[in-house]
Amino acid sequence: MKKLQMVDLVTQYQNMKPEIDAAIQEVLDTAAFIKGPAVKRFEDNLAVYTGAKHVIGCANGTDALQIAMMALGLKPGDEVITASFTYVATAEVIALLGLKPVLVDVHPEHFTIDPEAIKHAITPKTKAIVPVHLFGQCADMAPILEIAAAHSLYVIEDTAQAIGAVYTFPDGRKAQAGTMGTIGTTSFFPSKNLGCYGDGGAIFTNDDELAKKLRMVANHGQSIQYYHDEVGVNSRLDTIQAAILDIKLKRLDDYAAARNAAADFYDQAFANHPKVKTPVRVTSSTHVFHQYTLLLSEGIDRDAIKAKLAEVGVPSMVYYPVPLHKQKAYQMDGDFPVTERLCAGVISLPMHTEMDEEQLAYISQHFLQVLA
Ligand SMILES: *Cc1c(COP(=O)(O)O)cnc(C)c1O
Repeated sequence: MKKLQMVDLVTQYQNMKPEIDAAIQEVLDTAAFIKGPAVKRFEDNLAVYTGAKHVIGCANGTDALQIAMMALGLKPGDEVITASFTYVATAEVIALLGLKPVLVDVHPEHFTIDPEAIKHAITPKTKAIVPVHLFGQCADMAPILEIAAAHSLYVIEDTAQAIGAVYTFPDGRKAQAGTMGTIGTTSFFPSKNLGCYGDGGAIFTNDDELAKKLRMVANHGQSIQYYHDEVGVNSRLDTIQAAILDIKLKRLDDYAAARNAAADFYDQAFANHPKVKTPVRVTSSTHVFHQYTLLLSEGIDRDAIKAKLAEVGVPSMVYYPVPLHKQKAYQMDGDFPVTERLCAGVISLPMHTEMDEEQLAYISQHFLQVLA
């Protein structure tokens, strides 16, 4: 059996090496490193795939969030509501821009931002909500968009972990993650569901004016070269990365299917286990399983489980061990019982596009053994 890893990017590359190598070679041969034709091609293809009217490439998923907030004209002191259970980037850019991150708790079953908690956190200074489509599943967008509309708030969807996930509204209408709010942002960090071979990110919007503004902010605040109307940033998607992403985009649905097959295998192996809860799949969203994250029963020694798994060559990770409201940089008072419970009890098993049954059986068997 191949060595187990949380993510196996080497095998994934080997399975499409000629195509990837040719695409990279083409960029090298033309030296179109910055804003080469592959960037526009990939942006257009991703727009078609997601259904977003505009896709704007940028340097990474954190920049995407920052550019979104800058383009919306958010000002120091404005409050931005986001989830306490997420990767730090979401809150980081809020704080970096002098805005006030207002953290709220997440739903105990879905792990995504709790719409009821959003309602309680709204003040006259609230300007935006940033739901995070955590672990590969959409946050509950219908009530979030309703709350936003009622209070005239922007919605920025952090889609770094859920590109390709499809949300179904109560009236049956479907939309992809990142295309429902004012702006969507995503990351092409190598281990993300659509990952490049370095850093990359993108921004989605259906609003023509906002799209222009986003491009301008990402390009030093200029829409005409050397005329700088605003203070912007320098954030570009490299041509080599775009060329790679364009190839991987064609496989994204297959990748999601492979991830779902692995998740189904795990689900069956751990079904109704008294000591662990398998990930809940909501009816309102498809799941693209960026992570396969289980919740251990209270009182189980997670560190011991991880150590025993490591002994038999099974890697595991904890996303995320410390809630944002307990991080030194983002300390905040308040009640976050769900986030605290999740940070104490979640454990993620290997999840990627190249898993075979032998690996899945080995991981499942050993996980059941160490739980016993
Ligand atoms: C990965 C990630 C980001 C940041 O993406 P980078 O490309 O690493 O900057 C932002 N938000 C979430 C939820 C993420 O998982």
